[in-house]
Amino acid sequence: MIVVLAGGVGAARFIEGLVQVVPPRTITAVVNTGDDITLHGLHVSPDLDIVTCTLANLIDREQGWGIVGDTAECMSWLVKLGAPGWFKLGDRDLALHIRRTAMLNEGFTLSEVADSFRRSLGVAVHILPMSDDPVPTCVLTDAGEVHFEEYFVKNRARNEVRGVRYAGAEQAKPAPGVLDLIAQAETIVIAPSNPVVSIGPILSLPGVRDAITASHAPVVTMSPIVGGAPVKGPAAPLMRAVGLDVSAVGAAQAYAGLLNGIVIDTVDAGLAPRIEALGVQVAITDTIMRGPAEKANLARVALELAGRVTSSE
Ligand code: GDP
Repeated sequence: MIVVLAGGVGAARFIEGLVQVVPPRTITAVVNTGDDITLHGLHVSPDLDIVTCTLANLIDREQGWGIVGDTAECMSWLVKLGAPGWFKLGDRDLALHIRRTAMLNEGFTLSEVADSFRRSLGVAVHILPMSDDPVPTCVLTDAGEVHFEEYFVKNRARNEVRGVRYAGAEQAKPAPGVLDLIAQAETIVIAPSNPVVSIGPILSLPGVRDAITASHAPVVTMSPIVGGAPVKGPAAPLMRAVGLDVSAVGAAQAYAGLLNGIVIDTVDAGLAPRIEALGVQVAITDTIMRGPAEKANLARVALELAGRVTSSE
């Protein structure tokens, strides 16, 4: 059984590769919910929806988020009626948020909602939120502290980042099953996701780091930083703000003490000795997931690296 710690787009695309290499039912994605936000009275879970809809082949692949062919009728009416319009929600997208909120109000947990959605949409990979409790990621900027989505979407990542806080993490519990799954995993994969705002929240939950350290499974990741820059998204200012180098070395350092192996891009091959000096094994390949073949290759290389780590222990 493979446990994948997952953010949104980068993680979803990696898991699309993984399902080409191993049976989907043997994979569990533990997904970041630090980006979750209440909008128009609805519980929006961006990363859970990106992972679920990508694996259901319903995602708008140009954007990486949202549902393909979606319309924006409801949003335009919301704005007409005075609601904030900075976070775009398509009509089909809104159906997910309406149904999620209704189920939560009926007493279902976020884990139950996530499982119900993936079954309804025909996804065989198990999908678990990191927690059923709210742990909003707050970004401390030069203009004060804001929710991650306000920093990233509303303010378009223009403010200077001074720090990141996972609000309420100490009181939150990992979702039921998360710690047991980590304990029983044959392989733990940290997806090519933003280490600060996608994986950081998962690792901030009580017991998660200890469970990973105690597990006998190899822990491998792929650098989301290629040639000194993120493939996309706001990883650079966020990594800098927490003292990480914006490089494949920084990506390995982000998981210091947890990581056994990292896949880095061919363009970063020269960084391998610095990473190996940290006690982390390195595999080198083309890590840009352009299409199904590259996704499958990255998954295969990551699993081979996990096998290499295990046999050298
Ligand atoms: P997002 O914030 O919703 O996009 O979700 P993630 O946190 O999962 O993904 C963001 C990170 O994934 C970014 O730092 C990207 O650099 C990285 N990423 C996205 N696509 C790729 C890819 O094809 N290859 C690699 N190596 N990294 C990627």
